[in-house]
Amino acid sequence: MKPLNTLARYPFLKDAKTYVKNQGIAVTELIKDPLYDRARSIAIERVEHAFEHKDVGVRQLSKESDCIMELFSYPLSRMITCCINDSYFTRRYALGEAVRFYKNLIKENTFFLVDIVKEFNLNIQFDGENQHLSIYFTDYLTHAPTRYKHWKLVNRELQNGYISLSSKDLSRVTQEALRHRINNELLDKPCHELIQKTFSEEIQRLQNKIATQRKNNETIPVGKLDVKKLPPCIKRILADVQAGENVPHMGRFALVSFLNSLKLSTQDIIDLFNTAPDFDEEKSRYQIEHITGGVSSTSYKPPGCDKLKTYGLCPSEEIDRICKKTHHPLSYYRYKWKIENKRKKKKSDKKPNKKNEA
Ligand code: SF4
Repeated sequence: MKPLNTLARYPFLKDAKTYVKNQGIAVTELIKDPLYDRARSIAIERVEHAFEHKDVGVRQLSKESDCIMELFSYPLSRMITCCINDSYFTRRYALGEAVRFYKNLIKENTFFLVDIVKEFNLNIQFDGENQHLSIYFTDYLTHAPTRYKHWKLVNRELQNGYISLSSKDLSRVTQEALRHRINNELLDKPCHELIQKTFSEEIQRLQNKIATQRKNNETIPVGKLDVKKLPPCIKRILADVQAGENVPHMGRFALVSFLNSLKLSTQDIIDLFNTAPDFDEEKSRYQIEHITGGVSSTSYKPPGCDKLKTYGLCPSEEIDRICKKTHHPLSYYRYKWKIENKRKKKKSDKKPNKKNEA
């Protein structure tokens, strides 16, 4: 078994789980016993920090008791996340754990990294003598952030199905593997009643934060479409539709659901499409209303970058720095609005007050 402070830094590893299990502490004790007060407050800190900073944060692990509390905080923070019962929050929490994992992992030596990677069933090869690492291409494609140029398969050395990569890059791939794992594990897990009762105040506070963040996003003025702020993918699909090109179903779906999320009406969307030479208004209206909920009563959410990439709808050569910061075309669009609003505010703050000048 790994040393205690290692387990505390990697509480999702098998050894860490075995350690916690071997302590034989019941969930009720963990939730109620004053002995675990510290573990409970770390658990809250973990989820809150993940939500706000995309990182569960770092704490002192110099004493044995620090490590034990850190270890116990992990299952608690997972249970709290389930009670918050919001898939966006769950994704954010999973990301927070994964980002901290990566930050710790890049400080370790390659032998340690290789050992950890085994737990994620990643098919890797390691030549210890030359410190050369490679990963089987299917695992690479599943977890590597291939939206970035550096990660594109064409920019990688591929030999017998294995892709060479540095230990830092392998840490990044493993970060994604952990993120997927935690997200999948928690997604449909029910909330433990006792957790709900004990942490009701904190859970409510975090749910309010999510609601506020959602409201802030909604209040960004997106009602009137500003084509200049569209992400490259949507801009291109829109241009193809307007030119009467044959756009695949997923492209049309992405475009209509995106515009619908910006609160454009069916008529607004039809007017946008109306430039195609063979435009058929009735057919388009029917198709649009199927996606926006007008016909089928189901309003679909627009797909994120991952899905658009899978369908070949992300124009990789046009990706810009905002694409690299976001994972969803809607976030891209909102981000551009935010930048403009900030710029406008700065400008108006700078304007001299004419009354005072007179
Ligand atoms: S990275 Fe995302 S937002 Fe940017 S072009 Fe690709 S799919 Fe669109």
